[in-house]
Amino acid sequence: MLGLMQDRPLALPHIFHRAEQFFGHKEIVTATWGGGEERTTIADWAVNVRRLATALDRLGISEDARVGTFSWNTAAHLELYMAAPCTGRVLHTLNIRLFPDQLTYIANHAEDEIIFVDRSLLGQLWPLTDKMPDVRHFVVIDDGCDDPVPDDPRVLNYAQLLAESEPFTGRFEVADENTAAAMCYTSGTTGNPKGVVYSHRSTVLHSLISLIADGPGLRETDVVMPIVPMFHANAWGLPYGCLLAGTSMVFPGPNMTPGAIVSLLEKHRVTATGGVPTIWMGVLPLLDDHDLSSLRVMLCGGSAAPKSLSEAFREKLGIPFLHAWGMTETSPIATMYSPRSHHAELTEDQRADIRARQGQSAPLVDLRLVDPDTGEDVPWDDVQTGEIQAAGPWIAKEYYKGEGGGAQFTEDGWLRTGDVAAADSYGFVRLVDRTKDLVKSGGEWISSVELENEIMAHPKVAEAAVIAIPHERWVERPVACVVVKPGESLTAEEVIEHLKPRVAKWWLPDAVEFIDEVPKTSVGKFSKKTLRDKFAGYKLPGS
Ligand code: ADP
Repeated sequence: MLGLMQDRPLALPHIFHRAEQFFGHKEIVTATWGGGEERTTIADWAVNVRRLATALDRLGISEDARVGTFSWNTAAHLELYMAAPCTGRVLHTLNIRLFPDQLTYIANHAEDEIIFVDRSLLGQLWPLTDKMPDVRHFVVIDDGCDDPVPDDPRVLNYAQLLAESEPFTGRFEVADENTAAAMCYTSGTTGNPKGVVYSHRSTVLHSLISLIADGPGLRETDVVMPIVPMFHANAWGLPYGCLLAGTSMVFPGPNMTPGAIVSLLEKHRVTATGGVPTIWMGVLPLLDDHDLSSLRVMLCGGSAAPKSLSEAFREKLGIPFLHAWGMTETSPIATMYSPRSHHAELTEDQRADIRARQGQSAPLVDLRLVDPDTGEDVPWDDVQTGEIQAAGPWIAKEYYKGEGGGAQFTEDGWLRTGDVAAADSYGFVRLVDRTKDLVKSGGEWISSVELENEIMAHPKVAEAAVIAIPHERWVERPVACVVVKPGESLTAEEVIEHLKPRVAKWWLPDAVEFIDEVPKTSVGKFSKKTLRDKFAGYKLPGS
């Protein structure tokens, strides 16, 4: 027997129309280049979404086109967050920190037809535009920066485009909730970035997570500042959560310095915010000079949130982090910390240990820990470890065009996360290792394998392995372990000089250690685990 309930699509137009109808009076503040601010309301934002819908049609952007953004966290970016998916198109947030080759790859792979770009970022994108043949328009959004804008027929002005487009007057409809709403590329250990495609259904369900009480618990009275970039897995779903709850919003725009962030948090009496640990490490020393007593939720994720950092905030502000774990493939929230009744009997220090864990799986997300050798489930006894595998309505089932990682999905349809963890009997996960060969520095990935390949291209290098070493500010930094060919001699400076023209500056290893041999596994692969054990406790210069 079937249930007799209405089968209505879970789609973003509902969130748009709800925000427009009920929360029009709520304010959205965006910090602009040079320290200014722009203020708008959800009502005016909604008119712009409607204008954009018309503009995309007028420009002849196809019905299910990928609409690229190359933007900071701003109200205009939020307009695109709704206008693209509510018109059946697919928002494609390009990560502004990717290398030129990766950016051209993902814009071409997604076949972006149009890219909306902040004026302060145009200089970074423009040299690549000739390599993006599908992109017909580059729409420049004024973010207060006065960098030159090329005189080119492909370039349009955002404000002018909106002014020339009448607001769409109907109700947005997306009939099939499984239609793609947005996409985001994630770094591969090797090879090209992989496209994760969110559906309307997955996005709506994931948005609800920001509203649950055992989570951020966003509510109408909140003032929310998403610091995590809107090009990082939809800023962890916060923007859609804010619209659903009807919160006021503050967007940090182009200035991501700790000083600018802390001033915005203070000035706007922000109550809920989210960012990677590196952001909070920058903010911590500034707390004494700023009144952040309005904060009640600090979401921290993307890398492990160290206990010492979370405790330092708890001591100063009275609130610890709300630690969350996930990945682009999991929309991204998969686990979250929240206090539980059985924690009441613990000491403050024991509770701090639990907060440093990645938390319990979010409602509707299933996790299992799997022994990578036997493929068997590992018991949740807080001792045995296994790879976390995830399943649920906002977990990816494959990559765009099926490219880049069939092996990442199990035969029974679970996502292999590449993170290794133990879990206690209450399901509180504790990450202990990562099988993917990447270094996460300040919330961004560095591919160890690519660094190794570049180092091994040096004529005097026999072999090289790059490992992640804990770092106070960046959470992890790369260290290169290099074996020099017999009879040759090489210095650390020479290795770094060799890398400089080949990789981005922030990828350069913090140290180069010379070793006799890279330890190998039984099948002859580099054993990073053995190397990491060897370098346990290693102190980085300057950390
Ligand atoms: P995001 O854009 O959310 O950072 P990515 O897909 O780039 O997502 O990175 C996801 C990976 O980052 C995870 O698989 C894990 O290795 C790491 N990570 C994310 N959150 C945490 C956390 N709270 N603690 C430890 N590692 C984390």
